[in-house]
Amino acid sequence: MTVISDASPVTFSGVLPEAVDVVIIGGGILGVSTAWFLAGQGVSVLLCEKGRIAGEQSSRNWGWVRQQGRDPAELSIMQESLRIWDRLSADTGADYGFAKQGVLYLAESEERLGEFENWLTLVEDHKLDSRMLSAAEVTALLPDCRGAFKGGLFTPSDGRAEPEVAVPNLARAAQAQGAVILECCAARTLDAVNGAVTAVITEKGPVRCGAVLLAGGAWSSLFLRNQGISLPQLSVKATVARTAPGPSVFEGNASTSEFAFRRRQDGGYTIALSGYHEHYLSAETFRHFFSFLPSYKASWRETKLRVLGSGIERGLTTTERWNAGQTSPFERTRVMNPLPDRQVLRRLRQHLAARLPRLADQPFVESWSGMIDSTPDLLPIMDSVAPIQGLFLATGFSGHGFGIGPGAGRVMADLIRGRDCGHDLKPFRLARFEDGSPVRLGPAL
Ligand SMILES: Cc1cc2nc3c(=O)[nH]c(=O)nc-3n(C[C@H](O)[C@H](O)[C@H](O)COP(=O)(O)OP(=O)(O)OC[C@H]3O[C@@H](n4cnc5c(N)ncnc54)[C@H](O)[C@@H]3O)c2cc1C
Repeated sequence: MTVISDASPVTFSGVLPEAVDVVIIGGGILGVSTAWFLAGQGVSVLLCEKGRIAGEQSSRNWGWVRQQGRDPAELSIMQESLRIWDRLSADTGADYGFAKQGVLYLAESEERLGEFENWLTLVEDHKLDSRMLSAAEVTALLPDCRGAFKGGLFTPSDGRAEPEVAVPNLARAAQAQGAVILECCAARTLDAVNGAVTAVITEKGPVRCGAVLLAGGAWSSLFLRNQGISLPQLSVKATVARTAPGPSVFEGNASTSEFAFRRRQDGGYTIALSGYHEHYLSAETFRHFFSFLPSYKASWRETKLRVLGSGIERGLTTTERWNAGQTSPFERTRVMNPLPDRQVLRRLRQHLAARLPRLADQPFVESWSGMIDSTPDLLPIMDSVAPIQGLFLATGFSGHGFGIGPGAGRVMADLIRGRDCGHDLKPFRLARFEDGSPVRLGPAL
């Protein structure tokens, strides 16, 4: 079993402290990385996770750690993140499955090649090692892949890590530096006095603190709405499979317009459809309809709209409100573990047979899906939350928060401590959704 779920044992437990400097809500890569940096700086930290560390997006993702194709606004933090990934094993003595084997995008059309070229021009200042490949170079790099490719875009310094081991191992490293990490400990509400945060009320009791980081992934908007703060955030479901260990067709990560795959540390492949996802219509869809219209227009072909049924996805979109003394929706869905889409799995088998015949009979040993939390401009929010002094937010990483997670965690640690983080955070401010700024979809590929 790769994916972390309710069935996984509780491995982070202990006594709830009465008071800490910082409470972090959410044990995904954002919460865990920030905890590691803060604890390493001598700050007392409690990280509370409603289910399991990395139970949601942070163990369900493809494991790509990439600069390639990113919005230029994210690149300097991503470059720092790559440097952190590079030295994480040496710094902590643990394995993260990190390897730099490159990211390759294949183009089936001249139009797609043009998009690659435009992106390369836009990111020139960042001095990446990304480069265009001719059709012959693509064939040389990926001789087992069938298809009439016009060329490609390749970044050799990009790589992968193994999500389901990386995030728990980093949590253990944070714990070793003094952070208290508790699973099955939902944060229900915040207490504030004169507009400044004073405590987090968890299901196990209150914890006094001077600062709070909400890194709740797809649940962040629900938590904030209960505090009277609106956050435009919607989720889409994506299905993934992994194969048994098999022959090497490419050691890095690659994607065509149809599907994406990457070689795993165990010799298998993590495989998924490129860009395809499902969105469950709910009151939240209509509440944020106009904010998300540009991104929906850009991706409607790959977005399947579904009526919200009685599935586990329903927990995310509840309209209920609760107070500190009541069981919260976070306790009712410990780990968001939606069913994978069977039709997607069938399509993946067809793509493997057509494009990578050497893997055609490689069995899928596991499949899963995850809810990806998105913002209207597909950029994350890394900011303080003005109405409540001492409250910070790191969320909305829109399907690409794993690779940038360690860098973003370092940034959030500095932000919480009132230090200059060394990056321009204006593109990630929360107020961009309220101050009349137009929703700008960046040139991310
Ligand atoms: C299928 C899929 C493929 C992806 N592929 C990639 C990829 O290849 N590369 C990449 O960079 N990114 C990828 N991503 C995106 C990436 O996984 C996410 O952006 C990243 O993991 C987000 O981390 P997070 O910490 O913000 O959220 P999460 O990992 O979702 O963690 C949030 C945590 O907060 C907890 N929580 C929420 N509310 C509360 C509460 N009130 N109290 C206590 N705990 C709470 C949740 O239980 C959860 O564990 C992918 C995502 C998916 C789903």
